[in-house]
Amino acid sequence: MAKYIFVTGGVTSSLGKGIIAASLAKLLQSRGLKVTIQKFDPYINVDPGTLNPYEHGECFVTDDGAETDLDLGHYERFLNISTSQANNVTTGRIYQTVINKEREGEYLGKTVQVVPHITDEIKRRMMLLGESGEYDIVITEIGGTVGDIESLPFIEAVRQLQWELPEEDCVVVHLTLIPYLKAAKELKTKPTQHSVRLLSQEGVHPNVIVCRTEHPLTAELKRKIALFCNVKPNAVIEALDASTIYEVPLKMLDEGLDVIVLKKLQINGYAAPDLQKWRGFLDKLHHPKGKVTIGLIGKYIELQDAYKSILEAFVHAGAVNQCKVQVVNIHSEHITPQNVAEKLKDLDGLLVAPGFGSRGVEGKITAVQYAREQKLPFFGICLGMQMAVIEFARHVLGWKQAHSTEMDASTPFPVIALMEEQKKVKKKGGTMRLGAYPCKIDPHSLAYQVYQSTDISERHRHRWEFNNNYINDFMHAGLVPSGKNPSNGLVEIVELKNHPFFIGVQYHPELKSTVENPHPVFVGFIQAAKYHAEHKQQAMASMREKQSA
Ligand code: GLN
Repeated sequence: MAKYIFVTGGVTSSLGKGIIAASLAKLLQSRGLKVTIQKFDPYINVDPGTLNPYEHGECFVTDDGAETDLDLGHYERFLNISTSQANNVTTGRIYQTVINKEREGEYLGKTVQVVPHITDEIKRRMMLLGESGEYDIVITEIGGTVGDIESLPFIEAVRQLQWELPEEDCVVVHLTLIPYLKAAKELKTKPTQHSVRLLSQEGVHPNVIVCRTEHPLTAELKRKIALFCNVKPNAVIEALDASTIYEVPLKMLDEGLDVIVLKKLQINGYAAPDLQKWRGFLDKLHHPKGKVTIGLIGKYIELQDAYKSILEAFVHAGAVNQCKVQVVNIHSEHITPQNVAEKLKDLDGLLVAPGFGSRGVEGKITAVQYAREQKLPFFGICLGMQMAVIEFARHVLGWKQAHSTEMDASTPFPVIALMEEQKKVKKKGGTMRLGAYPCKIDPHSLAYQVYQSTDISERHRHRWEFNNNYINDFMHAGLVPSGKNPSNGLVEIVELKNHPFFIGVQYHPELKSTVENPHPVFVGFIQAAKYHAEHKQQAMASMREKQSA
């Protein structure tokens, strides 16, 4: 039977509960335990698929096609495992299940209530992964902040489980903030005391307090927090700001977070942590030998969380290539044919981001044209790939009005068209082409060079596709489909001949990049950018030489 760890948050949101949960999971995994993490979110949307990225950051997609919270991305990147629909549950999904059961008559004769019906459904889902027999430990991160009205049923479910489960099968870790008051030059523990009190009022007693802080906690301060929060001093864990999220597991190891949790769970005979690969990655990350500048062209660039997995995939690929990847965010709405050269001239590579709707697409098309003509390494993801197809149609094939029917329903050249099975779709939630599909790669292609394989599987989230009616025109003019779905021929990868690195993918490779398995397309793209940067430098040096001669 699995044991359960619950992670709650207090004082404020955005304390990095997901990173702390993932770090603890990493440490337990490194000691030989089988661990998974799940996230319970208090909002009413059935999943975050219907949320604008400005609301909730990127929507992460699992192999089984679940649209989930971006924290699942951290879990996968840290643990190098695949998560699934079961790993992300929202209030909306809980209510949907209970209401469906009520309509079917499962509670016939009874008043259906938050307690016990909603809380029972929450508990059932909290236990689900643990009952599969696959895991020693299941970590459950509770979204939101203690004291929020909407998270009350989740906290109540944790309270009941803390009571129902054997003492040694359950740990509650509470993450709080210790603010530093500059004027008083003091760290303040009162908000933490209050948040623990609030949690206790709701009946949950945390076993471990993890304190986010900008300054180290003294032993005296730790003792004070321990005394007033009713935990032992060694259960007060300092979580100092780290230079990268990937340092956090090591910091938690130093603080003994995993050991205190293992003791409470009465797990003995655990191995010493094997973090060799992790440390190797960090070593490369901290000692880059060069630098590349990548332009990220998107329309949600004001919010970094909107492109979380892409940014993390760059960190992984940079470490492999031992070079620092500096990402410059460029708003697609600000790019015009007049300013494009000026805006993109210092880049070593260009990534055109995924997206929906027409805002900013002309800027994306202009940026692709620049990358194609200037032989700048180019990488288009999903909408980015579709923009590359449109750009080629307009400027190489000469079809000036070519477009995607997503943006122009009456274009005479619908080079990107709505997928057949999408035409009958009316509801917006969970109806895109979602999750993992296989793709067959042409062995004589750039895609093959980067993947070193003809058979891959990647995750999707889209409704439109490359229109196969035009495939021959594109191929003859030099934009070739190098990866296709083996069963329906859907074009998954396009690439340009006679270009150092120009690739567009209909799927989302960023969702599968992890610390231990950096994604091959990102690795190849950064390698191409590195080559571009080095040659640019050589060209400049020889120009200077000529000038001085
Ligand atoms: N809007 C495009 C589609 O639905 C691209 C989606 C995406 O970039 N994720 O096909």
